[in-house]
Amino acid sequence: MSAEEHQRVMVVVAHPDDMEFSSAGTVAKFIREGREVVLVQCTSGDKGTARRDITSEELAALREEEEREACRRLGVQHVEFLRLGDGELMPDLNFREKIVRQIRRHRPDIVITHDPFRPYALHPDHRAVGITTVDSVYPTARDPLYFPEHLDEGLEPHKVAELWLFGAEYPDTYIDISDTFEAKIHALRAHVSQVGEAKDLEERIRQRAAEVGEPQGIALAEAFKVIKMRR
Ligand SMILES: [Zn+2]
Repeated sequence: MSAEEHQRVMVVVAHPDDMEFSSAGTVAKFIREGREVVLVQCTSGDKGTARRDITSEELAALREEEEREACRRLGVQHVEFLRLGDGELMPDLNFREKIVRQIRRHRPDIVITHDPFRPYALHPDHRAVGITTVDSVYPTARDPLYFPEHLDEGLEPHKVAELWLFGAEYPDTYIDISDTFEAKIHALRAHVSQVGEAKDLEERIRQRAAEVGEPQGIALAEAFKVIKMRR
C-alpha cells in the first residue's frame, strides 16, 4: 500500500476519544506521510461522566472542544460532529444515510472504524457505528440508487478502497507507532474530562501497544483487520 494510492482517510467513531485510544498513533503517522484525515464523530459523548453537576448539553460542548484540541494536536484536518445521542445509536437506514453522506462528501480511500464483529463486551454505540459504517462503505455509498437525493446536492457515489477495523479479535495489519506514540498520548491528554490527570495513562497505553506489537517484533503497535474492497 502506498501513500500516493490512498491519500484520503476517514475515521468514523462513536465517542470523543475512541479514535485516540484505538488508532491515534496510526492517524498521526498517516498525517506525517502527507495524507488527509477527516474524523466523523457520531456522538459527542453526552453521557460519558459519573458527575451529577453537569448537563448532557454542557458535557457534549466540553467533549467537542476536547476533541477539537486532540485533532489539532494530531494534525487531523477536518472534524464532523453528527451530534447523535450517546448510547442511542441504532444501525438503521437513517444513521446509514448520515455516514454515506460523509463518505460521498469527503471521498476517502481508507475508512477506519470499530470492528463490529468482535464478540462480547462491545459498547452498543461501537457495535452500531461499526456495522453501519461497514454497510455504508459497501454497497451503499457506491451505488447511486441508494439515497438518490444525494445526487441533487452534488454528492456522487463513491468507492472506498480499504476498510480498517480497530478493536479486532483477529487483526492482520500492525502499524509501528514507535515514532508517533508521544503524539498519541498528547492527543489522549486533551480529553481531560475522560482521562483527567491519570498518572498511569501513558504506562497503560504503552503496555498495550507493546503487547500488540510484541508477537510481530514491533516495539509499539496498533492493530487492525484490513478489508480490501473489490474495485
Ligand atoms: Zn466509545
